[in-house]
Amino acid sequence: MPKAQETVLEIDLKALRENYQYLRSQLENGVKFLAVVKAFAYGSDSTEIALELQKAGVDYFAVAYTSEGVLLRDAGISKPILVLHPQAINLKTIIDRCLEPNLYNNKILDAFLAAAADENQTHYPVHIKFNTGLNRLGFIETDIPTIASKINKSRSIKVKSIFSHLAASEDLKEREFTLNQIKSFKALAKKLSDALGYQPMLHMSNTSGVLNYPEAHFDMVRSGIGLYGFGNSVKENQHFKPIATLKTIISQIHTIKKGDSVGYNRAFVSDSEQRTATLPIGHADGIGRQYGKGKGYVMIHGKRAPIVGNVCMDMIMVNVTDIDCKEGDEVIVFDATNTAEDLAKTAQTISYEILTAISQRVKRVFIR
Ligand SMILES: *Cc1c(COP(=O)(O)O)cnc(C)c1O
Repeated sequence: MPKAQETVLEIDLKALRENYQYLRSQLENGVKFLAVVKAFAYGSDSTEIALELQKAGVDYFAVAYTSEGVLLRDAGISKPILVLHPQAINLKTIIDRCLEPNLYNNKILDAFLAAAADENQTHYPVHIKFNTGLNRLGFIETDIPTIASKINKSRSIKVKSIFSHLAASEDLKEREFTLNQIKSFKALAKKLSDALGYQPMLHMSNTSGVLNYPEAHFDMVRSGIGLYGFGNSVKENQHFKPIATLKTIISQIHTIKKGDSVGYNRAFVSDSEQRTATLPIGHADGIGRQYGKGKGYVMIHGKRAPIVGNVCMDMIMVNVTDIDCKEGDEVIVFDATNTAEDLAKTAQTISYEILTAISQRVKRVFIR
């Protein structure tokens, strides 16, 4: 891999394919694989990732918002795309671009029935979501008679799948809660299928559901974080390789005397002579202020350099007093060894957050 000459996010497409193959190997034959590529494929690049996964053989894609699905269609993704969180204002675009909406309440169901009829659709594929304990999006049991009768009265739409979402699949202490979610999903799905008179596909597992709950694989699984290289536990992480490496360089080195301060609001005041390196990456690139004041760190020549003082918009300063380094040297913010998850923990957050925070200003480079 070339040395960084500016801040770059390297995306390892071979690692992506291997993560996908590992997840696939956990499924029975015939179970479909939906790749979740929302939020720029967890901060990497949704179109490059989706094109690679389409080649590798995934069956389905999901995004959170309609505009993300449009981006995939524009890039030549031809597989079905589930839009997890559509709004009424998006429904015409959804139909125009052959995206498939999640219908999660009566308001969006009614709006979609009207939009599909307006556009002269027959049997347009939709997905019905049930709330089984996350209490975020989804119908509940008492909605079933109403939604079944609305859907059965219309020729415009057809339920392609019934799904739900696990609230704590990565937390083995919540096994009983999760098994209850699975049980109630089965009952809800049966009730709706019976009322519809046909059997849509069923799905409820995210990455940790794939790994921890084989009984929740049903007809399809929906995986995001695993594809990007995280298994949400020390044990499972061994089977995955993080695909993203965030690199930068040293712009300038300063020698700080005792009593000197570093950065805005003089958040760091030195009690001795120290050396700091200024790096061209800041909170506008995705390194939040919570990583400042010694919490977060970067790696320079294999050694930890903690962030000194406050994170600026476009820069951070790190302590390199004990590191033999010079201006222009490469810096690793995270990679497959010092992972995004490790860095996230220093600020009491999770890999998902730091990955999706990497802003569009950071250049993406693909390793094929
Ligand atoms: C984001 C999301 C997923 C993917 O979850 P991972 O933990 O990243 O595998 C699956 N389903 C829904 C509904 C989601 O919102």
